[in-house]
Amino acid sequence: MEKELEFERLANCKTCKGSGSKSGGGTKQCRTCGGVGQVISARGFFQIQQTCPDCMGTGQTISDPCGDCHGQGRAKDRTRIRLKIPAGIEEGSRLRSSGNGDAGTRGGPSGDLYVVISIKSHDLFEREGADLHCDVPVSYPIAALGGELAVPTLDGKANVRVPGGTQNGATFRLRGQGLKHLDSDRKGDLYVHVQIAVPTKLNAEQKEKLQDFAKALGEHNSPLQETFFERAKRFFT
Ligand SMILES: [Zn+2]
Ligand SMILES: [Zn+2]
Repeated sequence: MEKELEFERLANCKTCKGSGSKSGGGTKQCRTCGGVGQVISARGFFQIQQTCPDCMGTGQTISDPCGDCHGQGRAKDRTRIRLKIPAGIEEGSRLRSSGNGDAGTRGGPSGDLYVVISIKSHDLFEREGADLHCDVPVSYPIAALGGELAVPTLDGKANVRVPGGTQNGATFRLRGQGLKHLDSDRKGDLYVHVQIAVPTKLNAEQKEKLQDFAKALGEHNSPLQETFFERAKRFFT
């Protein structure tokens, strides 16, 4: 997508058009460095050469500094740009927008703007590279008997056939329903993870029917229970 960004940066001062001078002309030799642009300070036995803080290394100072930018030639400005965000971009990626950084001092070239991408989490989908994961609740009767399950996708909805005897945590893969890979046109997959939904508000009739069902079912009726009780028996004897 294309996203509009608004941010503050140092842009060329509008009053002096970046020159730093009120009249647009007047510069004079910097008194601090004598026009060299460097100052030397002594620190113990060492001499340290540094960029002159008064003329920023240019050797010249403005004789009639612009009142708005104090001779800097640049001032804070709110800027809007449109930035192209490529599909499949990763968390923490840096996008460079050239020339949209701070302006240089006294009309010097502008730096670049680096935009660091931070991806918001989604209510339904969890991302893993180009693949997506989604937990979908499935009613007990549908999990036991099988049926159609409507699952959310990035484009809308898809129907998944759930086979009878589907267990909690079972995973279905929907090919090509993930995110686009950043470097190709291929798409990742969507993994649907089944969560068996246990009802919490049963009325008297529903409870009775469920109790009847439990009696009819008998004790160990799922592969999960069979393996568990088999292992438990070996553990206790
Ligand atoms: Zn100015
Ligand atoms: Zn200087």
